[in-house]
Amino acid sequence: MKKHYDTIVVGGGIIGNSIAYSLLKRGQSVLVIEKGEINRKASSAAAGMLAAQAEVTEAGPLFDLARKSRNMFPSLNEELMERTGVDIELIQKGMLTTAYTNDKVQELKEVIDFQRSLGEEAVWLTREDIQQVEPNLSEKVIGGMYAPRDGQVSAFKLASGFARGASALGGDYLEFTDVHGLLIEEGRVRGVQALQGEFYSENVVIAGGAWSTFLLKQLDVNLGMYPVKGECFSVITALPLITKTIFAEDCYIVPKREGRILVGATMVPHTFDEKVTADGVSWLLERAISILPALKEAEWERAWAGIRPQTTDGLPYLGVHPTISGLFVATGHYRNGVLLSPITGEVIADMIEQKELPFAMQAFSLDLQTRRGLYEASN
Ligand SMILES: Cc1cc2nc3c(=O)[nH]c(=O)nc-3n(C[C@H](O)[C@H](O)[C@H](O)COP(=O)(O)OP(=O)(O)OC[C@H]3O[C@@H](n4cnc5c(N)ncnc54)[C@H](O)[C@@H]3O)c2cc1C
Repeated sequence: MKKHYDTIVVGGGIIGNSIAYSLLKRGQSVLVIEKGEINRKASSAAAGMLAAQAEVTEAGPLFDLARKSRNMFPSLNEELMERTGVDIELIQKGMLTTAYTNDKVQELKEVIDFQRSLGEEAVWLTREDIQQVEPNLSEKVIGGMYAPRDGQVSAFKLASGFARGASALGGDYLEFTDVHGLLIEEGRVRGVQALQGEFYSENVVIAGGAWSTFLLKQLDVNLGMYPVKGECFSVITALPLITKTIFAEDCYIVPKREGRILVGATMVPHTFDEKVTADGVSWLLERAISILPALKEAEWERAWAGIRPQTTDGLPYLGVHPTISGLFVATGHYRNGVLLSPITGEVIADMIEQKELPFAMQAFSLDLQTRRGLYEASN
């Protein structure tokens, strides 16, 4: 292993690995440093939904970023399969956001109007339509928004595909190595400090998910991020119960391959505790069964939890540090890190190469004034 790299990426989750993969494809030398095992934190806990339309229900920079990233998946799927042999299990059967009340019906119809006005496909399904296409859903579902372009992948397989791709292109990985400081000289980053010693680079990217905040605080950067724990569980059914991902107000139900159904996720803010609680699982079970009663008969598989990196304004941080050159941050992807991983890799690589960005990124800036100014202007 070398001691000097073009770029060091701190954090071996889906975001760090996507950035490493993009940089290596462009010929950079890259070291990814991970304090535990790669892809074991939020990125392996995720349900893998590519919910650009179901999750982001208002026009704005996040909606644009999410759609662009989602549209990268079909070619990324082929590329990763070809380069690494990893099948990311892309399923493109759309997502159905359900309504149980007239207020929700109204809200979803407005979402459909705005999404169509921006060129997205979104279709209103009546209760009768839903009984035709998803007959196992409860009768309490009185309608829903169907977004045929939203899909899903295996989050862990995608994260592994990026890491394998990066490694095959000559990227170095250092696991069980906690980065506890940054080397900065004359306003420029020079590398990182870890227990195993110092590692040098031209650029450093902080992609430490919910834990990024600890490194950033050392630089007096307070991005106002906080952790949000999420619990999920999976069951197995002999016959398929649903074909589309069901996105309800309190939970989602994701049909995976081989009869597996994944149900998520609780939202517990301000904790790094990754224990699965009986309360969390029973809360999810109750809601999921009320939407899909046949789940009661399914075979229990397992439950798990992960920590999402949330930001106060709900937008990720994707950008260069305002005063330290060579230092980049890519975090705060909250509920959409899987969806946003391909575009994050590409835009951070563009920023590092000082390329002109294909679209405006100020809304994701680390400069809080730029970000707030834009936010206030749009409200
Ligand atoms: C239950 C659940 C369900 C979700 N479902 C979806 C979904 O369906 N679709 C979707 O798009 N998103 C989903 N998400 C969100 C998604 O998982 C996250 O946004 C994404 O995984 C964040 O990736 P990351 O690489 O930033 O963070 P992580 O995966 O947490 O990786 C960060 C890594 O950085 C390492 N690290 C931190 N600090 C240091 C340091 N100082 N030195 C070395 N290493 C360090 C950590 O150990 C960790 O491995 C879900 C999340 C949860 C918890």
